[in-house]
Amino acid sequence: MVNYLDLEKKYGAQNYKPLPVVIAKGEGCWVWDTEGKKYLDMLASYSAVNQGHRHPTIIAAAMDQLGKITVTSRAFVNDQMGRFLKKSAELAGYEQALPMNTGAEAVESAIKMARKWGEKVKGIAKDQCNIIVCSNNFHGRTITIVTFSTEAQYREGFGPFTPGFRVAPFGNAEALEALIDENTCAILVEPIQGEGGVIIPPQGYLKALREIATRNHVLLMFDEIQVGLGRTGKMFCFEHENAKPDVLILAKALGGGVYPVSIVLADRAIMSVFTPGDHGSTFGGNPMAAAIGIASLDVLINEKLPERAETLGNYFSEQLRKIPCPAVKEIRSKGMMIGVEIKPEFGNARRFCEALMDRGILCKETHITTIRFTPPLVITKEELDWALERITEVFKELC
Ligand SMILES: *Cc1c(COP(=O)(O)O)cnc(C)c1O
Repeated sequence: MVNYLDLEKKYGAQNYKPLPVVIAKGEGCWVWDTEGKKYLDMLASYSAVNQGHRHPTIIAAAMDQLGKITVTSRAFVNDQMGRFLKKSAELAGYEQALPMNTGAEAVESAIKMARKWGEKVKGIAKDQCNIIVCSNNFHGRTITIVTFSTEAQYREGFGPFTPGFRVAPFGNAEALEALIDENTCAILVEPIQGEGGVIIPPQGYLKALREIATRNHVLLMFDEIQVGLGRTGKMFCFEHENAKPDVLILAKALGGGVYPVSIVLADRAIMSVFTPGDHGSTFGGNPMAAAIGIASLDVLINEKLPERAETLGNYFSEQLRKIPCPAVKEIRSKGMMIGVEIKPEFGNARRFCEALMDRGILCKETHITTIRFTPPLVITKEELDWALERITEVFKELC
């Protein structure tokens, strides 16, 4: 029999350290390994699978589009992209949209847009724009993006880096405002930090950033790649504080777990800094991606997945908090975005993830100390109860 773990070890770049489970099939919240053992997926591919694995509506849209046309390039117009852009823009309340593929690409696109806006609209001198970001951020893995990571490993060995970024402490609006000067074109922030360990800023932070951006004539850009599209109990995380950013970046669940689809949303006054030839992507906005993007949004809307995330997420985190476990330092949650931080004296969170895996639950540690529970939003109360039983057992065993 093929040993898939060895195959990856031998032929793959070793830039990940996966749990030793080989997944061969998935449906809804469940995945099966090559031996047919069933697991509850409580990671949902870092929120790329909010709609569940192989959602029938999304698969049907993909199959239908496969039978028509898949890639056209932007040299021509296709009959899917415009509908997708309209749907995304209207849903979030923006005038225009720029389609890309991965999250990192969308963040790069937003950075380019902000800089060009800084020069052309705000009047910042050539090559002088700066952008304020936050400590403990995660926005992707390109050279420019890791430039402003505060995680040493993400940068180590990858220099030289891109100038023009300033790092403010996450959650402190006053400290962020103090870094703004006349050359600041934008603020780039995750409304809740996902990779950073499910870090929720103080109440009022997003609203304060909105006011700071307006007062200082800089663009507020929210990276909602992980926390947008229903995850936190609202379609968009900024809705919790009615703090609509000037630029909204979406990816992950926009592709419904089927295809990489990302987008940058803004009003025309900002988006229009891009003129033909300024920026592009061969696959961005291809008809396959657009058809899947439309279906992915339809599922979120029609199945009221943000509302489900709110009610069932709150139920799940309440139940988690009731489990007696001296190893738990803190449980942080917003909707179906839940982080359980383990006290360092009880070892790494990975130990817990491995024990959960043995009992049929897949999740992944983030930042060594935190177990992240972010199941597909189609998960049912019964499935959550099933998980809670096993989580309780593991907490008992490892404490
Ligand atoms: C995953 C993620 C990204 C990067 O997306 P990729 O598709 O992996 O490039 C950027 N920002 C946030 C907040 C993310 O969670």
